[in-house]
Amino acid sequence: MYDVAVVGGGPGGLAAASIIAKKGLKVKVFEKKKVLGTPVRCGEFFVVKEDMMRLLPRVKNPEVFDVPEETIDNKCRDVRVISPRGKAFEFPLASYVLDRRKFETHLAETIISYGGEVEVGVPAHYYPNNGQPLVGPSPDSAIQADIVIAADGYPSETATTAGLPEKEYAGPYRVAVNMEYLMTDLDVEQDVAELYMDPRYSPGGYGWIIPKGERRANVGIGVREPYLRRDWQIRDLLTGFVEKNKVARAKLKGGQKASMIADSLPVDGPLSRTYSERVVAVGDAAGMVMPTNGGGIQTALVTGHLAGEAAVRYFENQTPLSSYEEAWKDQLGVEMENSRLMRQASDRLMGHAFWFSVLLRMMGSRRIADVVMCQMPRGMGPLFRLLA
Ligand SMILES: Cc1cc2nc3c(=O)[nH]c(=O)nc-3n(C[C@H](O)[C@H](O)[C@H](O)COP(=O)(O)OP(=O)(O)OC[C@H]3O[C@@H](n4cnc5c(N)ncnc54)[C@H](O)[C@@H]3O)c2cc1C
Repeated sequence: MYDVAVVGGGPGGLAAASIIAKKGLKVKVFEKKKVLGTPVRCGEFFVVKEDMMRLLPRVKNPEVFDVPEETIDNKCRDVRVISPRGKAFEFPLASYVLDRRKFETHLAETIISYGGEVEVGVPAHYYPNNGQPLVGPSPDSAIQADIVIAADGYPSETATTAGLPEKEYAGPYRVAVNMEYLMTDLDVEQDVAELYMDPRYSPGGYGWIIPKGERRANVGIGVREPYLRRDWQIRDLLTGFVEKNKVARAKLKGGQKASMIADSLPVDGPLSRTYSERVVAVGDAAGMVMPTNGGGIQTALVTGHLAGEAAVRYFENQTPLSSYEEAWKDQLGVEMENSRLMRQASDRLMGHAFWFSVLLRMMGSRRIADVVMCQMPRGMGPLFRLLA
């Protein structure tokens, strides 16, 4: 018998379990990967706490953005957005480039230090079992828990089994496919993260070069299906971005591609319902990715933390799990909705290199920064709302 079972040992599930274990409740995390955070399916870009509090100013638990120095591979001071025509817009945004294996291992060690359990190499399923939830690789080898946290990424089997609207979410505009190489032997600037808006090689999304230190960088693209031509293969688009985007090509010249990963990402904001009587969904499983920048590590940490607090309230005074949804709406709701609207508005121009370049030129660095920061661009809110 456990108080809480967590399916998925990414930042969302681990943050939740940490809060629960700290309160002395009995919690177990199941992670299907053999090594936490490996293979890395992420650019590992992590905005530092001070700037994150400008991005999500209503968050009440900013300590979730604290990361130990040993989990940081590199530090950037600026973000540079490159238009389809190659024009650069730069603005300050301080960030870390994490080592997610180390970061997630650190979170797991915290849970274990509080008496919680983390089991790796075990794919787990949620069996509702008439209100007596079971979680494990099969019903026979499952543990019983009062509450289940769906932290298994997108799409989430756990959230689907719990009746949350995961399937309804799955529209082609709402889900991006991301593909990434770790590249080595590079001479890219180490203190600037770059985002490339190029409908030829990242249709419906953007490309990125995120420097990881020691002449390495995470280099990837996010695309969405409605913007793809039928004869395009995503793998070829990533190669095209590396070898043919005029600006990126010059920077990545001579680099070696070390490993490639791909994954899908929800980019239409949170699910319309994120809890049931016994289950709460956090992070990607709940659609908690910022639609205009694709960042989901920090929203997974925030929602994991809030889910952990909601679980504690459930045991302390029988507060229903709906308190979780109230909490995230209060702390993230405005920025997630702004960001979703702006992504929808941008969708109208994303397929057109010329008009998208014109829009970026009209906006300039300050307003582009607003959009990346999930704020309506100053003076252009009505236009974006109209386009959305
Ligand atoms: C290519 C790419 C680049 C990205 N770059 C960035 C970036 O630079 N910055 C940023 O902030 N965000 C980035 N993101 C998004 C970010 O990675 C996610 O939003 C974040 O990891 C969400 O955390 P999570 O805990 O919700 O889910 P995840 O990190 O996906 O963790 C879910 C875990 O559940 C496990 N799991 C799944 N099913 C089961 C099961 N049945 N049983 C047990 N375990 C299971 C998985 O193995 C996984 O470890 C990127 C995403 C991709 C795909």
